[in-house]
Amino acid sequence: MDYKPKILVIGSANMDMVIQSDHFPSPGETIIGGKFSLIPGGKGANQAVAAARVGGEVSFISKLGKDLFGETNLENFKNEGIDTSLIKQIPDQPSGVALITVDSSGENTIIVAPGANSHISTVDIQAADSHFEHAAIILTQLEIPLPTVLSCIEKAKKKGKPLILNPAPATDLSEAFFEGLFMITPNETEAELLTGIQIRDDDSAESAAKALFGKGVQNVIITLGAGGAFVYTEGFKGRIPTKKVQAVDSTAAGDTFNGALAVALAKGESIEKAVQFALKAATLSVQRMGAQSSIPTLEELSLKN
Ligand code: ADP
Repeated sequence: MDYKPKILVIGSANMDMVIQSDHFPSPGETIIGGKFSLIPGGKGANQAVAAARVGGEVSFISKLGKDLFGETNLENFKNEGIDTSLIKQIPDQPSGVALITVDSSGENTIIVAPGANSHISTVDIQAADSHFEHAAIILTQLEIPLPTVLSCIEKAKKKGKPLILNPAPATDLSEAFFEGLFMITPNETEAELLTGIQIRDDDSAESAAKALFGKGVQNVIITLGAGGAFVYTEGFKGRIPTKKVQAVDSTAAGDTFNGALAVALAKGESIEKAVQFALKAATLSVQRMGAQSSIPTLEELSLKN
């Protein structure tokens, strides 16, 4: 039996309501779209599911409403083998919902109503001492209140645990988020927002990564969509490409990348090897529709090359 490293994920859980369409509606326009699907999503939940599917023993800290979407999400996490003991269902808030449109090129637009996710607080992090202590790697994002994210970063530092911050969705962050952070994994838009450097090629990706490194982040990985990922660490600097594929839906590509990256690093892989594994998982996910519906399992990854 393969060793399963302990991964702690803190973040949002949503229900994604997805409509496929030839094109996006303009403001004020109503269009008739194609297929509708209801798919569990939310960056935290997607990353927790990705980490569990590719071989992590995952605990997830999140909040849901006491409603149908909350029940469905909770059941889903249990089916994925995720430890749900730190997920709370709160009575006075709806579960998070995302309205997603996907066009014929696989591009998407997303609007999120966070609901219960906005109530994941520093108190919830304070109560998770033993989970922080037992985790090999901690993974979080920005779909929950920023003070909660900061308390995760501080707690991880205090406990000497590596934390990966996926700074998504794009949000400006104070310097306190970066100093001494183990790893940050922005996409191109997020990297630009955090550094003011527009990413057009390898040189600009390197400049943006270097700027984040200069803020005190130990390892910077900028995901570049079809271009793979740019890695900037003490030991290795350069772009790692990914396979050319026909993308149908990029929803949760970054989440798949982060979940897989966390597991590979927790298993002791080098950053280069871990990024290659994460790229393989994410690139497989863009060939399928939906958020969690598109995340591959370890078995599928070992079959593909
Ligand atoms: P996000 O989903 O957060 O916007 P990216 O678009 O950078 O992040 O995608 C994350 C990862 O997903 C990439 O590093 C790559 O592995 C994979 N990916 C995304 N789009 C494509 C694509 N068109 N072709 C191949 N792989 C892709």
